[in-house]
Amino acid sequence: MASATDSRYGQKESSDQNFDYMFKILIIGNSSVGKTSFLFRYADDSFTPAFVSTVGIDFKVKTIYRNDKRIKLQIWDTAGQERYRTITTAYYRGAMGFILMYDITNEESFNAVQDWSTQIKTYSWDNAQVLLVGNKCDMEDERVVSAEKGRQLAEHLGFEFFEASAKDNINVKQTFERLVDIICEKMSESLDTADPAVTGAKQGPQLTDQQAPPHQDCAC
Ligand code: GDP
Ligand code: MG
Repeated sequence: MASATDSRYGQKESSDQNFDYMFKILIIGNSSVGKTSFLFRYADDSFTPAFVSTVGIDFKVKTIYRNDKRIKLQIWDTAGQERYRTITTAYYRGAMGFILMYDITNEESFNAVQDWSTQIKTYSWDNAQVLLVGNKCDMEDERVVSAEKGRQLAEHLGFEFFEASAKDNINVKQTFERLVDIICEKMSESLDTADPAVTGAKQGPQLTDQQAPPHQDCAC
């Protein structure tokens, strides 16, 4: 199971300093919506049909090229704490982007989106970007949340919206890339307007808890 990108085993990757920016991204939402599957699909291009045990996974690292920049993504997955709503504030610290996920076959997970959104707004940096993702769109026959309802809620909350499937690999890469793009857009916007939250880095996020980024400015 361990791959070169696993946090515990990825000495090679995690000590790799060859990147322009590092973004901490969190995947949150109710238990069983497919967060761990979504992360595995993106980071390892794999899918395990059985319930994926999340125990022991802190984050995975994936480095991508976007806008001529090498961007290292540190993608965090909850280790089952979401079941008890006991995600600690430390987990949110420094996050620049969120994938807020529900399951299109599970109404309860959709109804919880508002609460998760409130948590994000309470515990994270003001400029953190959020994408709402309706996962399991391969299960059309069991759908209980229409795409339209998802879109409307996203609009109401001010988030962008995707339906996706970790199983069939639909919109997984697109979700992460769009999130990276809007984080970059926000960063350059903030720099343009000399927003002290970014330029002064006083109220801004620590790009990582682990190490200082090589550059804090962003021109992408
Ligand atoms: P988590 O609790 O949010 O991390 O959810 P998991 O990734 O553990 O997934 C919960 C269950 O949903 C597992 O049985 C997965 O195989 C299944 N699952 C996850 N994503 C999809 C998907 O896109 N389509 C389908 N059909 N099943 C999925
Ligand atoms: Mg999980």
